[in-house]
Amino acid sequence: MFKKILIANRGEIALRIQRACRELGIKTVMVHSEADADTKYIRLADESVCIGPASPTLSYLNMPAIISAAEVTDAEAIHPGYGFLSENADFAQRVESSGFVFIGPRPETIQMMGDKVSAKHAMIKAGVPVVPGSEGALSDDPEEIHEIAHRIGFPVIIKAAGGGGGRGMRVVHTEAALFNAVQMTKTEAQAAFNNPDVYMEKYLENPRHIEIQVLGDGKGEAVWLGERDCSMQRRHQKVIEEAPAPGIDRKLVEKIGENCVNACRQMKYRGAGTFEFLYENGQFYFIEMNTRIQVEHTVTECITGIDLVQAQIRIAAGEPLNLKQKDICLKGHAIECRINAEDPYTFVPSPGLINIWHTPGGNGVRMDSHVFSGYRVPPYYDSMIAKLITYGANRKQALDKMDLALSEMIVEGIKTNIPLHQELVQDDRFRQGGVSIHYLEQKLDAKRSQK
Ligand code: ADP
Repeated sequence: MFKKILIANRGEIALRIQRACRELGIKTVMVHSEADADTKYIRLADESVCIGPASPTLSYLNMPAIISAAEVTDAEAIHPGYGFLSENADFAQRVESSGFVFIGPRPETIQMMGDKVSAKHAMIKAGVPVVPGSEGALSDDPEEIHEIAHRIGFPVIIKAAGGGGGRGMRVVHTEAALFNAVQMTKTEAQAAFNNPDVYMEKYLENPRHIEIQVLGDGKGEAVWLGERDCSMQRRHQKVIEEAPAPGIDRKLVEKIGENCVNACRQMKYRGAGTFEFLYENGQFYFIEMNTRIQVEHTVTECITGIDLVQAQIRIAAGEPLNLKQKDICLKGHAIECRINAEDPYTFVPSPGLINIWHTPGGNGVRMDSHVFSGYRVPPYYDSMIAKLITYGANRKQALDKMDLALSEMIVEGIKTNIPLHQELVQDDRFRQGGVSIHYLEQKLDAKRSQK
């Protein structure tokens, strides 16, 4: 096992990784920007290194600074967390060629899955069902583009091959708008992702977002650890996640889980990963794979009892999986609310000083957060400041516990989206289970038009 790991991230996930390291008896090095210098989780680490100013490009995305920090502290491995450099194949490559272990998949796997066109190809090869669409990147030939759209039928969605974070997508309802939409998405894709390739998919009108968690040992062994339902979204960003997904035939989920394991075996997948699907009318359609730990890994940990971050570290250290599919049992139900520093209805970020931070607790309540009373939320990064997770014997219990936990939480000094979460957790339609990815936006629109 490693003696020392460098954590190349910030906030709650940096603390989450630090805790996993401590439990495994591994020393930690936290890197941080100037804006994050005065935080508790950095003081809790064995060592810390300032890697640059507040701006992410100069700090958390600064590859040479991070690698130098690993060199001067004698760390053996680097954990990238999520976001920032976690899905950057070039970073993974540089980490490994500098003699450190990258806690994640091989650079080639990150590269293949990071390009959504090649990822879809790999899935088709592995027998995973995908959204019907163009076979590869779209050409500039208007006739060809129209032909593909007609074959799959309107509405269609144009997506950037290099896209991420819910950006680089455009829905097209009519033939008249098609060619322009393709050109516009290409221009944006080039500017945002430095890759002009776009592809076309059938736009599913009322799907749910269901994803499968996997672990692979990098040698061809893999397991899947149940599914998560992340349909409660705003602007393609997840707001609430839960496991398992309510109301889906277990046989169908198992078949998809096995498909994902097959795909992992084929690519000798190493580490934790997530296959994301849209689910509509009893069918699963692959949309993309995330080659890293995800924000919502916590709900899977609750229902499987498996520590996914520890598993990532063990795999990176070359340990065998020590997990057989038959040993993985899903028990109970877990829900996660992403607590953001923002106005609950306008979604305008609300950075600043938190005077009072009082967190809930009790049986089945988990709070993953780096925040404390007196913490100042910096304006430079993502607005998520905490993840509140509840776990119960069934969905109703988990929801009731969440309702109670949210009501116990006190945050003073900044605005948070806790009032929105309370409303959602009490929402009749959500409590029935199985809402689509459009539910939240529709609910917010209806609220606005009532005013
Ligand atoms: P990103 O990498 O930016 O997260 P994804 O491919 O995972 O992009 O898509 C993000 C979200 O966009 C999905 O969860 C879903 O809400 C929506 N979406 C993507 N593809 C489709 C599609 N073919 N039909 C309908 N919605 C889609």
